[in-house]
Amino acid sequence: MNTKEQQVAFEGSEIWFLTGSQGLYGEETLQQVAEQSQRVAAALDGADAVPVRVVWKPVLTDAGAIRKTMGEANEDPNCLGVITWMHTFSPAKMWISGLDALRKPLLHLHTQADAALPWATIDMDFMNLNQAAHGDREYGFMLTRLRTPRTTVSGHAGSPRVQARVGSWARAAAGAAAARGLKLARFGDNMRNVAVTEGDKVEAEIRFGMSVNTWGVNDLVAVVERVSDSAVDAVVAEYGDLYEMDADLRPGGDRHHSVRYQARIEVALRSFLEEGGFGAFTTNFEDLGGLRQLPGLAVQRLMADGYGFGGEGDWKTSALLRVLKVAAQGLPGGTSFMEDYTYDLASETPKILGAHMLEVCPTIAGEKPRLEVHPLGIGGREDPARLVFTAAPAAGITIGWSDLGDRFRWVANEIDVVEPSEPLPNLPVARAVWEPRPDFETATEGWLTAGGPHHTVLSTQLGADELTDLAEVFQTELVLIDADTTRRSLAKELRWSAAYHRLNQRL
Ligand code: MN
Repeated sequence: MNTKEQQVAFEGSEIWFLTGSQGLYGEETLQQVAEQSQRVAAALDGADAVPVRVVWKPVLTDAGAIRKTMGEANEDPNCLGVITWMHTFSPAKMWISGLDALRKPLLHLHTQADAALPWATIDMDFMNLNQAAHGDREYGFMLTRLRTPRTTVSGHAGSPRVQARVGSWARAAAGAAAARGLKLARFGDNMRNVAVTEGDKVEAEIRFGMSVNTWGVNDLVAVVERVSDSAVDAVVAEYGDLYEMDADLRPGGDRHHSVRYQARIEVALRSFLEEGGFGAFTTNFEDLGGLRQLPGLAVQRLMADGYGFGGEGDWKTSALLRVLKVAAQGLPGGTSFMEDYTYDLASETPKILGAHMLEVCPTIAGEKPRLEVHPLGIGGREDPARLVFTAAPAAGITIGWSDLGDRFRWVANEIDVVEPSEPLPNLPVARAVWEPRPDFETATEGWLTAGGPHHTVLSTQLGADELTDLAEVFQTELVLIDADTTRRSLAKELRWSAAYHRLNQRL
């Protein structure tokens, strides 16, 4: 954990490093186990790719200590998850009670202290000390026998690949912790008659720990009306520093009032969310109560500060955005609410143009955003202020969350964000242009067959590893469409996956 940004982002958070052994080896060997496992933990702790402190714990040699340590991991709010490694042979019946108690994400690291085998000097003492090769197999069997959700990573702790996978798992664990404590405020209900933004909020709280509740939009309007002019002035001054703006939008300009009103919404929303301890929210353009503008710029700024957001009452996408923003902290790129909007099918590689009415997060911007005010063709309110920009080219993912009735399904697609083929001088909203993998036809046919939604989270910070680990932690179905996907392989996966998830449900 080295970069300053990451230290700030994940300050206080820890991953615990637990080493398994047994009393049979005697004090001298256990001393060596302790020393070597401290070295492994330190290698992970010092790795740039691992954004969280890795804290070594004393070697575990009996069932009581294992159970106690797992209980402490559950109760410690700073502990995001545990890494376990069987340095020697740790008879796995000792782990049953502890693993049964563990409620935090688990990574099984399969490694050994030194990468090279000292062929010329190797003797039975060495063999007895370095036997993770079979110690971890004993333990892996028990994890499988217990059906314990986990991520398994194999290789030397100094390997960049191992460090990257431990890092992405640690990010997923941070996202999972954010979900467990998430409070989400919905201003109004879903857009009328829309199906895919609906969902089972009770099941979401049981499975993910998130609490999703609705407030009347006029509760927010009351806060908007109390915002002081000086608070608005301060935010407007920030806009002037951060964004390109025409003169008529600046203080004293003809249309400055439109910007000021949106700043008023921002101040009010922020204080409402802070006071209530909310990490995510939704709005609905059909239900704006006494709001004179649809929240646009205000929502974009709050997303940039890490809040989850979904339009049209879409609490599932909002919650997912919050979880992924926490997981992505400190990484280059950005993470935003997104909607598949329209296609360019004429170019050699077909492209998806994504946007929303207004609410795209400026963390994905490739340039300094422009603050603009334009009429909105829908909703019948005053012209809202919004940031306009084009997303920076990068590899990334889109992910959406559907409720299939008997379970949740996440559908994700690996994508490449690209420059638009031509300038978009008449499009007054922020946008992203991307090419889905493996190709447009396979990706979109797969997405539709899987029942993926039109709202997504687009991230150029995270990838398939973090999503896979998150889905494992929550035991939630993830359909991943990537460079290896074929139409036939996906059709089979969806059928098998449906059967698996049905069988895996409690009666
Ligand atoms: Mn929408």
